[in-house]
Amino acid sequence: LNDSTNTAWLPDLLYTERGFVSGVALVTEASGAIASLVPEPELECPVIPLPGRALLPGLVNAHSHAFQRVLRGLTEYRADATGDSFWTWRDLMYAVAARLSPDDLYAASRMAFLEMALSGITAVGEFHYLHHALDGACYEDPNQLARIVTQAANDVGLRIALLRVAYARAGFQTPPDPHQIRFLETDPDVFLERLDQLRTTLAVAGGMAWVGAAPHSVRAVPLAYLKEVFSFANEQHLPIHMHVAEQPAEIADCTTEYGRSPISLLHSEGLLSDRFTAVHLIHVNREDVRLLVDGGAAVCACPTTERNLGDGPLPAELFFREGLSVCLGSDSHIQIDLLEDARELEYLARLDTRKRVVLVPDGEVGPAALASKLFAAATANGARSIDANSGALQPGLAADFFTVDLSDPSIAGASPESLLVNIVFSLARSAIRDVVVSGRRIVTDGHHNAQEEICQAFALLQRRLWAT
Ligand SMILES: [Zn+2]
Repeated sequence: LNDSTNTAWLPDLLYTERGFVSGVALVTEASGAIASLVPEPELECPVIPLPGRALLPGLVNAHSHAFQRVLRGLTEYRADATGDSFWTWRDLMYAVAARLSPDDLYAASRMAFLEMALSGITAVGEFHYLHHALDGACYEDPNQLARIVTQAANDVGLRIALLRVAYARAGFQTPPDPHQIRFLETDPDVFLERLDQLRTTLAVAGGMAWVGAAPHSVRAVPLAYLKEVFSFANEQHLPIHMHVAEQPAEIADCTTEYGRSPISLLHSEGLLSDRFTAVHLIHVNREDVRLLVDGGAAVCACPTTERNLGDGPLPAELFFREGLSVCLGSDSHIQIDLLEDARELEYLARLDTRKRVVLVPDGEVGPAALASKLFAAATANGARSIDANSGALQPGLAADFFTVDLSDPSIAGASPESLLVNIVFSLARSAIRDVVVSGRRIVTDGHHNAQEEICQAFALLQRRLWAT
């Protein structure tokens, strides 16, 4: 404790496993790790006082497509006279994905990551499938775009798992789609070689960036290819993420091709493990969920995007009843507010069951039982899913955290006992004051150093992209 290279962050209230405590500081090391939680009278290192603030572990956004930020506000109309759906939205998304230069991608990604930082997110899992040049040719460095997105996150100050996507085909017995030429790597050996290259490059990032494997979906990756990706990822201890069961058409196609649902296919091929996260999981039944739980796998729910795309209601009640580990993602970035995703889980369950306080087992009582489950989805569960060394305020973990202003109108008047419930159900972004990653403040008093520059560059990009 007597180490002058340590720093003590002393808020009014600090979030622990036992709830909020007062008079306790979070002590961080120069290395960027949490050293200990120390009562104020015992502090022997320089103190950063945080009066009127509560301190909580940083949020983990486990599913992002940063570039899709350019679509915000531009798809809320009927593009097709016969009606709008996920598939017509996807056409618009493909059209813009086909036009972004490397510089454009950097500007769009920094914009998305800036908003994440301002909303208390300290680590992100970026599901990255934009690999090639506009004409589909491979860049001289085949990981150029992956490195640009990684750089954008690190420049903003976020920790990032670059989940490099394998994309082999348009679908089962489906002709090639020219809009997908920037995503395609049809040979699994080529994909794995590039993934491994990226893994080596990012290994020097000191825990600020690392890779994961992300076969896009059972639609886009045939089984033999899928098995090679899983086997490599398991060998290298990488997280594996995949879109699963977002649309009914995907289930129907998988059943036609393999005679099974995507989850039962993954199960029967022995691919489910605690390294695996299924993203979305909208159209599933109890049997699918049980297979995931038995295999130790997790789900990443993205309710703000799923409700925007009309994917269908997420079976949140089923997930929690069966004990599936749930983490969260802002996905298309129609909105970047992970606590909104967290509360939406419970609200979907309420609409579905016409009851209140649904996602908490019968035996668990106490005012914060539900809120702490939802908060864990936005923190520790996400960290586990993307393999980030964060998600809780514990010695040895990274010093990733944020503070909230206790006098912000959205949570004013909360007691220490009701504060977490106030935060999970009602926090506005205006309450978020400091955001710290690896012991370094990236947001101070609700402001990021590069905020004006990032917004300006993004406004220029939008003007150019959407000029008529
Ligand atoms: Zn996605």
